[in-house]
Amino acid sequence: RTQAHIVVLGGGAAGMAMVNRLAKRLQGGTITLVEPRETHHYQPGWTLVASGVWNADKTMRPNAQFLPRGVNWVREHAASIDADNKRITLAGGETLEYDFLIVATGIQLNYHLIEGMKPELVGQHGIGSVYAGIEEASRTNQAIQTWLQNGHGRGIFTAAPTPVKCAGAPLKMTFTTLSRLEASGRRDAFDVDYMAPGASLFSQPWVDEFVKQRFDDQGVNRRHHYRLSAIDPHAKQAEFAFVGPESEFTSHHQLRQAEFRRDDQPTVIADYDFIHVVPPMSAHDFVKQSALIAQDGPFRGEWLDVDIHTLQHNRYPEVFGIGDVIGAPINKTAASVKAQAPVVEENLLALMQGNALPARHMGYTSCPMITGIGKAMLVEFGYADNFAFMPSFPFIDPTEESWAVWVMKDRMLQPAYYAVLEGQA
Ligand code: FAD
Repeated sequence: RTQAHIVVLGGGAAGMAMVNRLAKRLQGGTITLVEPRETHHYQPGWTLVASGVWNADKTMRPNAQFLPRGVNWVREHAASIDADNKRITLAGGETLEYDFLIVATGIQLNYHLIEGMKPELVGQHGIGSVYAGIEEASRTNQAIQTWLQNGHGRGIFTAAPTPVKCAGAPLKMTFTTLSRLEASGRRDAFDVDYMAPGASLFSQPWVDEFVKQRFDDQGVNRRHHYRLSAIDPHAKQAEFAFVGPESEFTSHHQLRQAEFRRDDQPTVIADYDFIHVVPPMSAHDFVKQSALIAQDGPFRGEWLDVDIHTLQHNRYPEVFGIGDVIGAPINKTAASVKAQAPVVEENLLALMQGNALPARHMGYTSCPMITGIGKAMLVEFGYADNFAFMPSFPFIDPTEESWAVWVMKDRMLQPAYYAVLEGQA
């Protein structure tokens, strides 16, 4: 039995999975979950909403439905972490002491690093962005619909110069929109551009080549080494900064926020009728301001400093990280959370008993890469051998598009995701 107090910061996919797992396993002790939201959002459904396939309400459930008995739920934002004194300060000023801490606060969307861009603009002036939230995903669908109804014009799809959650989502939005353009019977009347800050479009090399080839075949104009630096919604113009041919942003290299200066980078201006904006992303500011943030290496100043295999903090052994917040070369999917949750559970329980950490995360991540409405590929990979495939179903070829994988994305992955939240999978 233990007397320990465990605090879990953030009750999204990762935090909710952890409180459920620990509530089942812990003998004694107390668990506090700090999560300000009443509603749980199934974010993997947002691409389907923004593509006009799902209704928004299919993606929301009350958090209370997932919360296990006996967990103390603090409905507030954490405002700061004092790792040296093992103390959290909440937005209301109260403090929480912990013996063990799990950081699962996910990602901060840094739209403010694109001059002129605000998430409130999504749905107006031809602007879409699947990442901003469920309302914005619906408005992205409407913006695409309006562009389609206009019957012609240029659509620009962008990618971020930082790691992002679900690195496939900017590509999926391009592919589903291409399906809609083709279905309109007037594909030739539309121009489609994809602006990528790095040389590659996806971290897994085979998928990267596949997507590039498919974009070329489908008449998508690819331009590399450009990041979206500013937007003028009224003029429907976007400014792109040339970030240099050595730039490589798709996995763990990234432009740090301090480097978002525009004056030393040549820029181009492009007119658009529709633009899909993918914001730069990082850990939340209050995590960045804490001692828990990476101090050097590729994640410096932007992401949580954990051992990418044990998920234990590199300098504060009583702290673990899980989910989108961690600095790791790949991950940032709910599929990664499913693989990480048992690792954090085993390692934390071992640490509490004074034992060596037994479990290792091998970087497993997966993306049902939607390549058009009605077809997808199940791409699963991990850290080893330059992100080699890690297929979990012998009958699914990761390099084959199929309707079966689309059906999996459309119908089966959501119940599987809720099982992860409930600590069952
Ligand atoms: P989240 O689920 O985002 O949870 C973070 C939680 O922290 C939130 O509940 C938030 O309220 C809370 N929080 C934030 N700040 C604070 C604070 N200050 N104090 C306390 N709590 C705080 N994954 C897949 O596996 N497959 C997919 O196909 C897929 N598609 C996606 C498509 C889109 C458009 C998006 C946006 C994501 C997609 N994902 C997909 C990724 C997946 O949703 C995330 O990887 C997953 O939700 C990560 O879980 P998390 O708990 O780390 O973050």
